[in-house]
Amino acid sequence: MRLLPRLLVATLLFAAPSALADDAHTLYQTSIIDALLQGVYEGSTTIGDLHQHGNFGIGTINGLDGELIGLEGHFYQVRSDGSVHTLDDDVAVPFATVIEFEPQEHVDLPGAKDFVAFSRALDGKLSSLNTVVAVRIHGQFPWLKVRSVPRQTPPYRPLAQVVEGQSVFEFVNMPGTLVGFRTPDFMRGLNVPGYHLHFLSDDGEHGGHVLDMRLEPVIVDLDYAESVEVDLPKDRAFRGAGLNRDMKDDLRKVEQGGR
Ligand SMILES: [Zn+2]
Repeated sequence: MRLLPRLLVATLLFAAPSALADDAHTLYQTSIIDALLQGVYEGSTTIGDLHQHGNFGIGTINGLDGELIGLEGHFYQVRSDGSVHTLDDDVAVPFATVIEFEPQEHVDLPGAKDFVAFSRALDGKLSSLNTVVAVRIHGQFPWLKVRSVPRQTPPYRPLAQVVEGQSVFEFVNMPGTLVGFRTPDFMRGLNVPGYHLHFLSDDGEHGGHVLDMRLEPVIVDLDYAESVEVDLPKDRAFRGAGLNRDMKDDLRKVEQGGR
């Protein structure tokens, strides 16, 4: 029975490729940040599935095996040793957010001395703070501090404990692209409120989850989501997770740890 809707969707997409255009400005995410925080590190969604929903985004890989970056239709993994790898379609992801990136706005941003200053400055430029905004910044970055996380094995520990063993890398005058999202506070629990950015260098050899950075003036490309699709895992780890509590303190440790 459960197969039927998927088959219908597949049929419709093949019959009418223009239906894909409806994906424009639709944010897709698999699982929710609070589940990741609690150690739900395996999902059944694959890189192939992400390709169906977007060409741009961020997330992680099953077993928490590094940081995920989607850019121009390719999905990359930054492992905890700092190496970057292209991800095949059959690789599974426990948490990811993607969009078919079609920027509606391009804003000039003056330099920013750190991540907090950047967040404040870009907030002041956005035409709305009340939806998820996909953010792409290409440039040469005077200073970036990024991290990646080490692959885990069951039984999984909460993310706040795992990041104590994260690898941190700093880059100076590195050309590349920042890929990520600004999520409104009202989506707390589903995703990371505020800016969540990953970095990929132009040579494809460096990257990670951005902890802090310094910026020269840049142009920021913005795609405002008009709808959000959340795919909830059906496995026992997700269904059994204690998701009815406030994970704010864990989130702060995970997103800003080492800043
Ligand atoms: Zn991240």
